Amino acid sequence: MERPFNFSAGPATLPEAVLEQAAAEMLNWRGRGVSVMEMSHRSEEVVGIISQAENDLRELLAVPQTYRILFIQASPTALNAVIPMNLLGKSRHLPTIDGIYTGVWSGRSLEEAKKYAAINIAASGEAAHFNQIPSPDIWRMTDDAAYVHICSNETINGTEFFFTPDTGTVPLVADMSSHILSRPFDVARYGLIFAGAQKIMGMAGVSVVIVRDDLTGYALPICPAAYDFGNLAAYHSCFNTPPVYAIYLCGLVLQWVKRQGGLTAMEAAAIKKSGLLYDCIDASGLYVNPVDRTCRSRMNVPFFLRDEALNATFLAGAEQNGLLQLKGHRSMGGMRASIYNAMPLAGVEKLVAYMREFERTH
Ligand SMILES: *Cc1c(COP(=O)(O)O)cnc(C)c1O
Repeated sequence: MERPFNFSAGPATLPEAVLEQAAAEMLNWRGRGVSVMEMSHRSEEVVGIISQAENDLRELLAVPQTYRILFIQASPTALNAVIPMNLLGKSRHLPTIDGIYTGVWSGRSLEEAKKYAAINIAASGEAAHFNQIPSPDIWRMTDDAAYVHICSNETINGTEFFFTPDTGTVPLVADMSSHILSRPFDVARYGLIFAGAQKIMGMAGVSVVIVRDDLTGYALPICPAAYDFGNLAAYHSCFNTPPVYAIYLCGLVLQWVKRQGGLTAMEAAAIKKSGLLYDCIDASGLYVNPVDRTCRSRMNVPFFLRDEALNATFLAGAEQNGLLQLKGHRSMGGMRASIYNAMPLAGVEKLVAYMREFERTH
């Protein structure tokens, strides 16, 4: 059966080869007679699966040895609390977090962090409807912030950072859920990077945290032991039972990325796919994308029909053509095409062809 192209923002499409491998290994993983779901997390097999995934991620992102890679059973929304609880124990006085407010997800992070720290919105894109990322030249930082928070790809607003801010000695914390593994970047510029797996790395149920050694071991006393990065680091993500199957699936995706040629290949593909789609939108009289060209996301492309009355017809026709889940986020309306690593070029080509034909006939 030919599968349709799925443009869901998350949980998102997975490489077909990964789904096939997971299916083939479901009942009997590598001759052990059981599924990965049925094996102890203390077994040699599962310890091997987790360390292989960790090593592959370290290799793909060139993560320095001074950083720990943690798999944690907490989605990014939960990490919005878990991260401050881990990073704020160092300061004696009420700490401040410098936040860069660029859209829905950075907003949610800062809202949650308010429970644990004073928040300084150092820059906000709100007045520009989040269609621009404020230039670091105008960020108004505090002197002694515990850390700076950014969301480097705003999944809903469709903006992406194409620069890494220099925060000096203040640790930079980045939510990379929706563009991690889409291009190479210098991990050493960050104090902590986090990403839910269900956008690009695998399935829901696990997140990856990449944290510099010197930032672990300072959790607030109220931080649950199972979410203390120091504990997770000491036990190689097995302080408690980790989401074994979700980590296994991450491992399959990481192997797939390596087979495709790693992050430079992912970046080249992302440039090509997003370029095709933005060119189609910009050349048309029907579709618009309001995001500033300097920060248009290569992963999430929101677009609107100038005639909103055509939305339902557009979506129904898309579905008939095997182009699924193009409806925009409920807070934005319109459309959104999420075109992560696993979306083949053929999917974007088919979408663009459909959009042109729709415009011609409506
Ligand atoms: C999807 C997403 C989240 C939220 O993920 P949950 O699993 O719902 O907690 C947070 N940040 C970004 C950038 C996302 O794309």
